[in-house]
Amino acid sequence: MDKSQKHKCEACGKDIEQEVLIKNLNVCPYCGHHEYIGCRRRLDITVDEGSFKEMDSDMRSVDFLKFRDLKKYSQRLEEAREKTGLSEAIITGEAGIEGYGVAIGVMDFGFMGGSMGSVVGEKIKNLCNRSIKNDIPLIIFSSSGGARMQEGIISLMQMAKTVSSVGRVMACNIPYISVITNPTTGGVSASFSTIADIIIAEPGALFCFAGPRVVRQTMKKDIPDDFGLAERNLANGQVDMIVSRSDMKETLARLIRLLRG
Ligand SMILES: [Zn+2]
Repeated sequence: MDKSQKHKCEACGKDIEQEVLIKNLNVCPYCGHHEYIGCRRRLDITVDEGSFKEMDSDMRSVDFLKFRDLKKYSQRLEEAREKTGLSEAIITGEAGIEGYGVAIGVMDFGFMGGSMGSVVGEKIKNLCNRSIKNDIPLIIFSSSGGARMQEGIISLMQMAKTVSSVGRVMACNIPYISVITNPTTGGVSASFSTIADIIIAEPGALFCFAGPRVVRQTMKKDIPDDFGLAERNLANGQVDMIVSRSDMKETLARLIRLLRG
């Protein structure tokens, strides 16, 4: 990549040098807009170097309904794998954060809009089991458009499955921290991401069930400009804290210290 290349901020439209943007963790230095980052990069900036041990890396979704919209589901999966280099919309594993062992899952919006199907649900369940087995805090970074419609009712079932899984972690008095990144909507916002001990959001993240466009169309009336944003959720008590990307690792470590002593 040409490091002197310019990148236009999606929010303020200012040009940012690629090198500056990367150094700034893909946060605009002018307006503070937090841009999308993939799950591998997210892990790199969040966990202790070299500490991540991935689980279930070989788990793959299958097209059990032989579903087809404009394209076959199997084709969409293949394209997503190729585009992202990931096998699914979440990576899970164990890692260290400032020396504390954690069970961590990071969703990636780049893989079919971070949609939750049977594999995402199963990986979260296994991650929860690992958290319980090793008595280590659970942290999940969400980024999702919701349930994966190509898996029909099975994708909706993952909502109940993930909720019961994180519920078992919390019943063992193990901290569960949910981190909301832009966007977290639909079935993910209506399941495991909203029932944590502590819910953190990145600034400006959209966090709601139905997005503003859908609500506007359905209600046929205007809604506030900050509808569904992290800041509005904080004011309404749906989010506990808003933490910028540069402070995330330190904040997670501090919370674990406070919760675990
Ligand atoms: Zn900007």
